[in-house]
Amino acid sequence: MDRRKFLTYVGSGCCGFILNSCATAPITERKQLKIIPEAKLNAQAAAIFEKIKNKEKMSSDINKLNEIKEIGKRMQDSISKYFYQSNQEDPTTNFDWEYILIENKKIKNAWCMPGGKIAIYSGMLEVTKNKNGLAAVMGHEIAHAVAKHSVERASRGVILNTSAQLIDIFSGGKLSSVNRTTGMDTIGLLSQLGIMNPFNRKQESEADYLGLIFSSLSGYDIRETVKIWERMSKLNKGKSSPEFMSTHPSAENRIKKINEWTNEVTLEYPPIKVS
Ligand SMILES: [Zn+2]
Repeated sequence: MDRRKFLTYVGSGCCGFILNSCATAPITERKQLKIIPEAKLNAQAAAIFEKIKNKEKMSSDINKLNEIKEIGKRMQDSISKYFYQSNQEDPTTNFDWEYILIENKKIKNAWCMPGGKIAIYSGMLEVTKNKNGLAAVMGHEIAHAVAKHSVERASRGVILNTSAQLIDIFSGGKLSSVNRTTGMDTIGLLSQLGIMNPFNRKQESEADYLGLIFSSLSGYDIRETVKIWERMSKLNKGKSSPEFMSTHPSAENRIKKINEWTNEVTLEYPPIKVS
């Protein structure tokens, strides 16, 4: 799998009408529109992250939290090393990485805010099951941040002039429309960054692809990734509604693509040695 094949799959959108704002996503080189400054969005995210830490119950499972931090550290080092070695700008230069484990067995979700603020809900651990599964989910979420999908989304909102979320971000106002994904009292906070809304299909696909790459570079077994989605699909058919599915609408096509990419990514992005 090379980037051309990836672009053939997701398509390479054009945003030529604002030339200076046109950027490309790392590795895939998909064209992106970015007119909102990353620093502004990261600062906003960091402030919201602090509020969430105060509002939500943090897990007392220190071993699990340490495992999350260990996986995260390996990923952040591998990502930086990869971009350094391939002579590309490291997209995580301005990140201030942080990891939390929120105690809530009912919520099967995880997210990564712009700037590298990552949260896992304890309910998600029932789906990830093992270290490779956890790495798969973290890789996917980290990929959204590394590819600056929130910056892209916020920028698109400015262009379309329809984004209530964006007005909220810069005015600090209250969001009028409440996200229906219930279960969290932090929902309003998360909505401000659009974290509880699904990213678009291209972004999701890109996060799947880059997530596989980051997990593989970090030395995790990415064959577990497709199993996560299968476990998620099964859960979704039952009584409980896993939030990860509502923010990550899955399809057979998605599982099929991940399966197709797995061998190629394993070969092309072997574990990177970080000193
Ligand atoms: Zn996603």
